[in-house]
Amino acid sequence: MSEELGRRVDVHVHPTRYSRHGPTFAEKNRIEFSPEGLLREMDVAGIGHGVFLCPRLAPSLEAGLQDVSEVARRTGGRFLPTGTVDPTKGTSHIETALALWDQNDPPLVGIKLYPGYLPFDVTDPRLEPVYAWAERARVPVWVHQGDTSDPDGLLRYVRPILLDEVAVRWRAVRFVLCHLGNPWIEEAAEVVYKNENVYTDTSGLLNPFAERYEAQVHRMRTRLRHAILAVGDVRKVLYGSDWPISSIADAVGLVDGLDLPSADKERILGGNARELLGLRG
Ligand SMILES: [Zn+2]
Repeated sequence: MSEELGRRVDVHVHPTRYSRHGPTFAEKNRIEFSPEGLLREMDVAGIGHGVFLCPRLAPSLEAGLQDVSEVARRTGGRFLPTGTVDPTKGTSHIETALALWDQNDPPLVGIKLYPGYLPFDVTDPRLEPVYAWAERARVPVWVHQGDTSDPDGLLRYVRPILLDEVAVRWRAVRFVLCHLGNPWIEEAAEVVYKNENVYTDTSGLLNPFAERYEAQVHRMRTRLRHAILAVGDVRKVLYGSDWPISSIADAVGLVDGLDLPSADKERILGGNARELLGLRG
């Protein structure tokens, strides 16, 4: 146990037991697919906390929450738990989710939505109670945007522009537009630029199975740099890995290699998330 935790924060990790492709990515990245393995990678990179996004493939709402909460407790709070919900399952499923979120121990730090993987988009009226809950609980909503790693996902549901309407309607709710909306990065940057309550994360931008991996890293870093310029405010950009899709070393390296002042990079790697999540210190 290190005496002092790193001040960096990873806002997007999936150390879940309910993962279809996690072990395959972990093998390719030569990392250990377990919360403890992830903690060791985080320690090397000076990352104190990781936001554990609630798995969408858990067999029930209860099982998903149990997974994130048990890992949060077991790791002394280094993983921060979130909830998720499938609005296509109807009103009573959503009501059950809200009731479980109210009682969750430890308290949830946010909600993750998986449009595209599931056939809904963020403007779906069935999500209104979810946004109202997030406003009441004062926690951000993470929204998957952009390419789905599952070929059965539907891209019409994942265009960043859809989040604009929701951000306008729910000004008191903060949203994290995940993956910079990749490949619709310019569109995502505009939504973040325009809306004070929309942030973005740098997660899942690297595919370890891609050919010419180094060239891909270079291309993505250039796109990320342009997106930050378009957003115009480095405080709106949060480091995330999408672990195990990226190793922590690769995901941190993407940000570390940006042509930015080191104070800005540290903001992206942790300072911004600490403010967003209200982490002390
Ligand atoms: Zn993810």
